[in-house]
Parts: sequence; C-alpha cells; structure tokens
Amino acid sequence: MTMSALWAGNVKEAAIRPRVFVNPGHGGHDSNDRPCPFANDAAGKTVEYYESNSNLAKGDALCEILRHKGYDVVTSRVKNTTADDLPLFQFLWGGATLPLYEIVALAANSGADIFVALHSNATGVAKRMNFPLALYRGYTGSPKSVGSDELSAAILKYVRDNKMAQWSAPERAAGDYTFYNWGYGVGLGVLRYNKLPAMLLEGSFHDYIPERCRLLNADYCWHEAWEVSQGIDDYFKRGGRYKKSLIAGVVADSGKKRSYSGAKFGRDEYQPVSGIEVVLKDYKGKKVASYTTDRLDNGVFIFRNLDPGIYHLEVPSWPLPEPIEVIVQAGINSYAEIIY
Ligand SMILES: [Zn+2]
Repeated sequence: MTMSALWAGNVKEAAIRPRVFVNPGHGGHDSNDRPCPFANDAAGKTVEYYESNSNLAKGDALCEILRHKGYDVVTSRVKNTTADDLPLFQFLWGGATLPLYEIVALAANSGADIFVALHSNATGVAKRMNFPLALYRGYTGSPKSVGSDELSAAILKYVRDNKMAQWSAPERAAGDYTFYNWGYGVGLGVLRYNKLPAMLLEGSFHDYIPERCRLLNADYCWHEAWEVSQGIDDYFKRGGRYKKSLIAGVVADSGKKRSYSGAKFGRDEYQPVSGIEVVLKDYKGKKVASYTTDRLDNGVFIFRNLDPGIYHLEVPSWPLPEPIEVIVQAGINSYAEIIY
C-alpha cells in the first residue's frame, strides 16, 4: 500500500469534520472566461452568459450547504474578478505555472481532505450534447491520487439524476491522461500537483442553449451544488445525517416548440413557461411555499429544505386537471414535470 492510499483510507475512516476545498472555475468576465451572449426568447433580448458566474453560483451554494452539513470548507474565490481567476486551463507546458500552482498550493496548505473544481462544459465544435463529466488525474480507472475515482463516481451518481436537465448521453468519469490524450503527465493543470483525492466536475454543457438558460437560474446552480454535496456525503460515509430534501422541476408548454433552431433533447423541444407561479401545499392542502419561474427561458422551479412527507403542486393561473402529488423522502431528490 502506498502512502497516499494509507492517507486516503485514514481520512475516510477518521475525519469527523472533513474539510473540502471548493474551486469554482474561471473568473473575471474576461476573454478566457468564455463570454457567451445569446438571444434569449423569454427575455426578448440578448443575454450575457459567463461560465464563471454559474460556477461561482454553484461554488457559493456548495460552501454554504457543506458548512450547514457540518463540513469545514475552503474556497479559491468568492468574487468574480480577474484577480480571483487562478486559471485552470493553463496547461503547464514548461514555464508560467504560478497561477495554477497557486490553487494547488492553496488546497494542499489548507488541510483539505478533498478537492472539487466546479465547471460546465462546451464541445468547441458545432455539435451539441449534454451530459455530466467528472475528470480526475491519471488514466481512467487508475487515478494518481487514491480516492479520486471514488469521489468522481459518488458525485456523478447524483448529478446525473437531475431531471430538470435533459441529457443526450450517460454521465462519464475519466482520467485526464486518457480523456485528453495530450501525452503522459500533461492533463489538467489544476489536478497536476494535487495530492488530495481531487476531481473536476463539468456538470453540464453550457453551449447547449436550453441548458445555458437553466444555468442562468441561481437556484438551478444551487441544485447542482446540492447534488455535489450529496456525493460528498456518500464519499465520507456521512449520508443520511441530513433529513431535509427538495422538489425540483420544470414548467413547459407542449403546445409551443422552442423557436431556437439548434439541438433539443427530450422535453427541451417544448417552450418553458416563464413568470408562472407554482404553489406547494402539504397533504392537508395548506400552502407551504410558492415559486415563480424566472424570465430567462428555463421554466425551472425548486422547493428546498422540505421535511419528508406528501406534497401537492398547483399552478393558480393555469389550473392542472388535478394537483401533482410528490413524495419527499430524506436523502432522495424529488422531481416533477408540469407539462401543458
Ligand atoms: Zn470551465
């Protein structure tokens, strides 16, 4: 058994209060921050999208959720400026390694037990796809830091179960040497010197336009962070400690097709309904909460921090034939589609 195997094993067995290093990718709204202005039907205008914004929304949410669940948390950024962008995709060919190394050094010197980088993906070509991808350092099935593949699998298990997203393919976990084929030992810079169990999550594809619309919703980003926290709970065998759960879903109009002409997977061919109120009631019919969908063309609604029980969803302005019944169980995310 190697030192790192011993160390990783000890962490999982011994850590009472695990420490998580969270690295929300990119920052600064500059050119390496993947600016993606696009025509948003519901907003009726061109809307900006920056990967750094959704990464930060996920990162902030993950820090808050993990602290609430009793973890220690360290994060590489809480703002979105160029100074906060310790670039991840600078591939460490030869020199100029300091900014990336800084993240790795921060993680190593923070006493963290694991390292999680949060990103979204893009194909870089005309073809569109949408699936969650987890990358760790090394060859697929043979990570350089013991536990990185387990951590990746634990997190992907929850991220793939997001039923607001529409996936074009199954989730995938891979070693970065295998995935990128850049040559031995190159791989992702941020994972390069990382001795911790470490992974980089590409939660979904932001160049798939219906997904980009969802990523503009901060609650949708919160939901991905929640899923990541569930995977981290499983990794540290802390699942089942937190009894609250959530109902998430999408309101869409099957009578209207999205005007957007690109690829559309599953229910994404329907127009999401913007600015519509969804009401959550308990089994006695008492109103618990309400959520009005945003005007950014995603139809997303989320009710969080729910006690286990039977709930009903209603839409006052567009009555359903009957309320949608949803059962909430601790540790299991519940989903509902409201399709007209
Ligand atoms: Zn990224």
